[in-house]
Parts: sequence; structure tokens; C-alpha cells
Amino acid sequence: MKNELLIAMDRDHLVHPVTAWRAHEAKGATVLESGKGLFLTDRDGRQLLDAFAGLWCVNIGYGQESVVEAAAAQMRRLPYATGYFGYTSEPTIRLADQLAGLSPDGLSRVFFTLGGSDAVDSAIRFITHYWNARGEPKRKHMIALDKGYHGSSSTSAGLTGLPAFHRQFDLPLRWQHHIPAPYAYRDPQGRSGDALVAASVAQLRAKVEELGVENVAAFFAEPVQGSGGVIVPPVGWLKAMERTCRELGILFVVDEVITGFGRTGPLFACEHEGVTPDLMSVAKGLTAGYAPMGALLMAEHVHAVIADGPDNHLPIGHGLTYSGHPVSAAVALEVLRLYLDGGILANGQVQGPRLAARLDGLTRHPLVGEVRYKGMLAAIELVADKGTKARFDASLGLADRLSAAGYERGIIFRAFADGTIGLAPALTATEEEVHAIVDRLTAALDDVLDQPEIRAALR
Ligand code: PLP
Repeated sequence: MKNELLIAMDRDHLVHPVTAWRAHEAKGATVLESGKGLFLTDRDGRQLLDAFAGLWCVNIGYGQESVVEAAAAQMRRLPYATGYFGYTSEPTIRLADQLAGLSPDGLSRVFFTLGGSDAVDSAIRFITHYWNARGEPKRKHMIALDKGYHGSSSTSAGLTGLPAFHRQFDLPLRWQHHIPAPYAYRDPQGRSGDALVAASVAQLRAKVEELGVENVAAFFAEPVQGSGGVIVPPVGWLKAMERTCRELGILFVVDEVITGFGRTGPLFACEHEGVTPDLMSVAKGLTAGYAPMGALLMAEHVHAVIADGPDNHLPIGHGLTYSGHPVSAAVALEVLRLYLDGGILANGQVQGPRLAARLDGLTRHPLVGEVRYKGMLAAIELVADKGTKARFDASLGLADRLSAAGYERGIIFRAFADGTIGLAPALTATEEEVHAIVDRLTAALDDVLDQPEIRAALR
């Protein structure tokens, strides 16, 4: 089919996620055709270096034949097996067992979802059930971070702390609350390190006190706040939040949808600080985007309260037709094998510091205010004024300029609306590809810097 026709059909019929619908119609879609390794090819034949692993998910790169084989073999053998009325399939059971073995201590129970939003949504439902079963039905309030992202289902979007997900959607809900992000670069009091950790602890304590601890169910956090602009908290932050939740007697939920499966170095970001949450959501890297799947991992004690709760002879009414889908599970098993036995996790651990070293050099660029990273997850925050950290005026449409310049230079990265660039390349990147990412990104930044409106806005 001709590309122009596809673009016209897209314009007329396809609703894109998190997009200004009319602006998209005016601009038109870029139709991707194929992928190999870190490279994508679009319908115009342009080769693009994907420095964002699709949507921070294709951690193993494109074109991994063994994953394709695993999916095809499972589809031939048994394309679907319900998890309802006691049935399931071998790959689903084996995957649950492997995840329980690989995840932080105590997370022994796995509920499979289709992605991250419904993993968080499942967490919300199970947490509600948990406190009711414990005989503390007043505990309904949940706290998360400003600039956090926990998905866009009707409940997870309210825990998300980004205005675009609340605006016109009547969110957050009454029981959803946010405390400031541990965002050193823009901390109003200029705090970093331990001082910023202490500030977050105090903010969580204050919020719990304001709500009344007897009304608070849980605190949710990402180990690195991805969609909020790759905000990397100070060392010790996650551990301190875990400790605070324990002291307060509220559940601690870690959302590893982006950070899981080697994105920040270890298999799970919790491992950096020996954190063992009560619940943990994963998705993305679980199947590396080759098939949809997410999971909610639960500590044994959470599972036990629900399993042994009142009326426990009745069904616990939470389920999805595709929970534990055997094809996705077969894909995930092979992806896990590639991470662990195929050397992909180890490669990411080698390439992360290389990426960091190259990005450090970018801080000298006239547009760059701050560079931050953890493993193969990084951000470059652009500012109009390095002294005051003032951003470019929204009317300049910096994000669109950056994306367009990246496309011209043959690179895909995430250009956040506030002028922050996100990077999350596949963990399979070679040293040469890491250099190519930073070289192409620098060229795109130079192109944007050369634009008269941008130069005029620079102070
Ligand atoms: N949680 C986090 C931390 C995420 O980054 C995302 C997606 O980017 C989600 C949840 C939602 O996942 P999904 O888009 O698969 O529903």
C-alpha cells in the first residue's frame, strides 16, 4: 500500500496515544516498516537509530529471531489458555516461577496483566482488598510523586503526577495524593543528596499525618521517574522511602515498569539499594515489547491477607481475559533467557557508563542545563538560561523542533514537552552505537541551536 494512502487512513481513523489529535492530523504519521538491532526503517526508507527502544521497552533490540521462534512455536502449540476456572499453561507457570525467583526477596506471587497501567490498576484493587480484609476499611488514601507516571487507566492516571493525564479527566481522585519529586536540579531550596532524601521523607510523613495514618493505604514510587523527565533521585532515596513506609505501617509499591529488566543496570532497580517492596509492577522489558504483557508481583504477606480474608471461599473478583497469555509468557521466558544467559543484561551494564561518560561532555553544549542518568536510562534537560535554569517558552515548540532535527539526523529520542530529552537505548547497543547516539543527538542539538528563534531566546 502506498505510504500517502496509509498516512491518510491514519489521519482519518487511528487515534494515537498521548497526542494532540488535531495537531497529529495536520502533521501526519511516520509509518515504521522494519527493525534490526537498534535501527528502525520507515516507509520512506529512512534508517533511524532508535535511542529510546521504542517506548523504553525493546531492551533486546529488534529482530531477535529466537523470540520470534518462541512466539510462533507457542502459537502453534496453544495460542491461548485461560487462567480462569483453574486452567493455565506451562509457559505462564514457568514465568511466574522465574519472576518470583529473580525479583526482590519476598515477592513470591505474580498476577499477569497486559501492560503497566493495568499492573498498577491491579495493585490499587488488591491494596483496597488487602486493607478491607485486614479490617481497616478506612485505609483508602494512596500517595505518589509529582511527575510520577503510573499509567493511564482510570485509576492509575490519577496516581500519575503529570498534568496532561489529569486535565479534562477529572483527576486525581479524592483519595489520590502527591508529594514533590526528588528533583535536585529544580529543587526550590537547592537541596541534593542526603538533604533531598530527608526532604522527601519529611514530605511523605507530613502528607500521611495530614491524611491521618489510619486512612492511608500505600505509597507508590518509580525508582527513576521516567515519563516525568528521567528524574534520578539521590542515592539512598528509595531505601529511605521504603523505611519510612515500614515505620508508618503503609504499603510500599515500587513501579519498575521502565526500570525493570536491566534498564538501570541490575535486573531490577530495587537491587541498587536492597529494597524489597510489598508490591512491584513490571511490564515493558518483561517481553521487550515483542508481545504485550505486564505483571504485578506481591509479597507473600500481602497475598496471604487477601487469600485468607473474610469470605475467602468466594472468588476474588479481579481478572483479565489475557492474564498470563501463553504466547506473551513464552516470549517473556525467551527474553529473560537473552538477558541472563545471552549476555544482554551484562552488556547493558558495560554500555551504561560509556553512555554516561559521553553525555557528561554534553553539559558544555549551550542548550544543556543538566545531564542525568542511571544505567541505560538518561535525560538531557535543555534550558534557555543556564544561570536561572529558565526553560524555553512553550510557544517555541522546542520538543517538536528537537524531534524533527533528530529525524533529519537519523535518530529517535524522546523529546518531552518541557524541553528534556530522554534516552533509553536497547541494552544490546555496541560501543560504536553508543557513540553514534551521542554524535547524532549532538548534531540535532546543534541544528536546533542554529535556528534563529532558538538563538534569540537563549540567554
Ligand atoms: N508505570 C510506569 C513507570 C510507566 O513508565 C508506564 C508506561 O510508560 C506505565 C506504568 C504504564 O504502562 P503501559 O503503558 O504499559 O500501560
